[in-house]
Amino acid sequence: MRRAEALIGGTWHEEQDGTRFTVHDPATGAALAEVADCGAELTRLAVDAAAAALPSWRAMAAHERAELMRRAAAELTERAGLIGEIMTAEQGKPLAESTAEVRAGAEHLLWAAEETRRLYGSTVPGAGADHRVWLLPEPVGVVAGITPWNFPVSMITRKLGPALAAGCTVVLKPAEQTPLSAVAVAEAFTAAGLPPGVFNLVPTSRPALFAETVMADPRVRKVSFTGSTEVGRELIRRSAQDVKRMSVELGGHAPVLVFPDADPVAAAAAVARAKFLNAGQACTSPNRVFVHRDVAAPFTAALVERAEAITPGVDMGPLIDAAALAKVERHVEDALAGGATALTGGHRLDRPGAFYPPTVLAGVRDNMLVCREETFGPVAPIIEFDDVDGVVARANATPYGLTAYLWTADLNRTLRVAEELEFGMVAVNGGPLAPPQAPFGGIKNSGYGREGGSLGVADYLDYKYLSVGLGR
Ligand code: NAD
Repeated sequence: MRRAEALIGGTWHEEQDGTRFTVHDPATGAALAEVADCGAELTRLAVDAAAAALPSWRAMAAHERAELMRRAAAELTERAGLIGEIMTAEQGKPLAESTAEVRAGAEHLLWAAEETRRLYGSTVPGAGADHRVWLLPEPVGVVAGITPWNFPVSMITRKLGPALAAGCTVVLKPAEQTPLSAVAVAEAFTAAGLPPGVFNLVPTSRPALFAETVMADPRVRKVSFTGSTEVGRELIRRSAQDVKRMSVELGGHAPVLVFPDADPVAAAAAVARAKFLNAGQACTSPNRVFVHRDVAAPFTAALVERAEAITPGVDMGPLIDAAALAKVERHVEDALAGGATALTGGHRLDRPGAFYPPTVLAGVRDNMLVCREETFGPVAPIIEFDDVDGVVARANATPYGLTAYLWTADLNRTLRVAEELEFGMVAVNGGPLAPPQAPFGGIKNSGYGREGGSLGVADYLDYKYLSVGLGR
């Protein structure tokens, strides 16, 4: 069993009274490691370190900051196999997905490193001949990050990359289910020579205490959160006290729209990839699959075939814990009781660990639980439709607004429907959603702020306006 600690000001710390929490393998339930369970005091110490490191980090030449970030990306890439194994042990996803995530996480860092050189300000025409207006980008300051367990490495680098590029320093709290991947990321940054205090890692099993401590600290100028809408809402409320900047990447309830002119087999293959990735535990996971009646039969057959080709425990991991498994069961049982049919899967597997098989439900109606709440599991609910004009309103009928998927060969329909969909991201005919150059993020109850692209870096910048009189 490993031991893991907090990284504060460049040194590894235990909680003073030795308090620790245990991390478990969701595939077996076995204890994997004991991790320092940081309380308010260590959290404040981490903010001290981030505040002390801020002046020199923000003043460092952009190309030097970029070089350190590139080195950290190289360290992560070099350790992708090792970190992947750690991630698979504590999160459950297959090793191929874990190592791919570490590499993708490094790509986010690299992209942000390049963006460091392009933190341009601007000049604006003044109010008169003797007036100049300049905009100067400045880092927001000390940032607190809170990340979820479903993508334990890339969720961290998607915050760290742009924050460090902007010249901010960071105190990050990983999810209590996956602190070991976060420790491995921190080790990579340390090996890369990042100055002490620029990135501080504070594992804890008491997330509310961490949030309370950083929210109460006026030195923390921004909180960047990825997780559930419920917790995000509470953090937004608390941020009002000190008027902190917030970025909140929250839950989703993604619709898929497969129109009659789409290739149903290609669409089904892409839906299977998006749906069963990470056992359906992704905020972008398709939650409602609207398929036009004309293509429903070949689409459904191809999706079932893909689902049945997946072997749980080999190609797909377990859910994160017993509560997640119970939620998936509740959603499927509700759908079956309401008249839906499980074409494959539909019940938990008779084996240890939180495994649920890839499941395809037919005959689903909009009022079922699967259509209203985020399932966060490997369940694809198919809803057939006839009314091409009405389906967009049905897709929009959710408080969430993160991702929508659209399948059509008709350019006019692509543009018309994409504009009507009330989501932060629309993937058309299988376009990838989270490359580093794209601004990932939602609207409505899915949150605000963007991660990735130049907009992602802008989330960590303030623009100071200089009004200059020439005094002639
Ligand atoms: P969660 O909100 O319970 O946990 C996420 C993080 O918040 C963890 O670090 C957790 O320790 C912390 N947290 C929990 N309670 C807290 C509190 N009271 N104060 C401060 N922090 C607290 O979410 P979860 O269920 O573990 O994660 C899955 C959710 O995350 C899903 O809703 C999913 O859609 C969402 N998610 C969104 C995105 C996105 O980019 N929009 C990406 C991944 C996951």
